[in-house]
Amino acid sequence: TPYLEIAGISKSFGSTQVVRQADISVARGEFVSFLGPSGCGKTTILRMVGGFETPSQGVIRIDGRDVTHLKPSQRNIGMVFQSYALFPNLTVAGNIGFGLKVAGASRGEISSRVEEMLALIKLPQLADRYPWQLSGGQQQRVALARAIAPRPSVLLLDEPLSALDAKIRVSLREEIRAIQRELGITTIFVTHDQEEALSMSDRVMVMNAGRIEQIGTPFEVYNRPATAFVASFVGTLSLLEAVVSDRASGEVRVEGVPLAGLRIPERLANGDAVRLALRPESLRLDGRDGDQQFEARVTVVDFLGSVIRIRLQLGGTRISLDSFNDPTRPPPSVDETMQVHFDPQSVLVL
Ligand code: ADP
Ligand code: MG
Repeated sequence: TPYLEIAGISKSFGSTQVVRQADISVARGEFVSFLGPSGCGKTTILRMVGGFETPSQGVIRIDGRDVTHLKPSQRNIGMVFQSYALFPNLTVAGNIGFGLKVAGASRGEISSRVEEMLALIKLPQLADRYPWQLSGGQQQRVALARAIAPRPSVLLLDEPLSALDAKIRVSLREEIRAIQRELGITTIFVTHDQEEALSMSDRVMVMNAGRIEQIGTPFEVYNRPATAFVASFVGTLSLLEAVVSDRASGEVRVEGVPLAGLRIPERLANGDAVRLALRPESLRLDGRDGDQQFEARVTVVDFLGSVIRIRLQLGGTRISLDSFNDPTRPPPSVDETMQVHFDPQSVLVL
């Protein structure tokens, strides 16, 4: 049974509908990301779960209880926002203990819980500092501790890493996930960053223009995108214009070059225009049995260390190829023409 249930939720502001018939069930202890471009309605759904907005339609349940029309304070929700939003006049300990104090906990209870939280976020020495004396990353860890100190039933995180430096962002991803696992707390994490969503989540809900496009594990949304939007929003993708030339053998032509063995959707007929979606890691420098190939010109070589990202030009189309570094073989050079190989089963035909 789901722990958090969002059922048939819609939301309009005036005559503008910004969330359309959203359904998602989250299991107890699950970590689910809402992923989508800015303005697609992620925060609006989160705010309805938190009780800061009322749905125009639909029901929200937590642990079987209908909370749709309850105030935030009646829902036992913890929330962290993009901007740190710590109380500037309170110390770190004061911030973390705030919710417990409001709830009427004793001084002893508060101080032991604050100590526990400080250990959890690995800032045990900073209890007496004020927010302005902390780095951005430290402030977000304190905001997280403040949100989870009162033992909320659901934790809502709205782009909590977006304002931080790239390096801290990546290390905090792991830290947040480790804390979430340790506490087993049911969590929704809003982000527009696909790498963040893929790396942190049990499941990802991909949204576009107020609608849910797909809900699935990171593996599923990346490898089996349900829609063209998901395919292009999640991960890097090269799109090749092609024409179906023989659907019986799964053959299409790209710039006149035949490529066979593709999975062509039922609805397509010979002569139809299609787009082939290729992930950078599906393309390779060396062919294997059953591979198809085409020729392309190298335009950029990005040596990233363990991976080399090669950009290629095929007619009017730009393509990305990722190859693991091979210390015995230098990468191709710019302007070289090379054969690009791929497993035809790895191509998404859109
Ligand atoms: P996201 O978090 O995915 O960036 P939001 O949920 O914040 O998107 O916003 C979705 C849409 O709803 C946007 O077009 C935004 O302008 C609009 N919106 C959000 N809050 C309000 C509001 N209080 N009044 C009117 N429009 C709003
Ligand atoms: Mg938002």
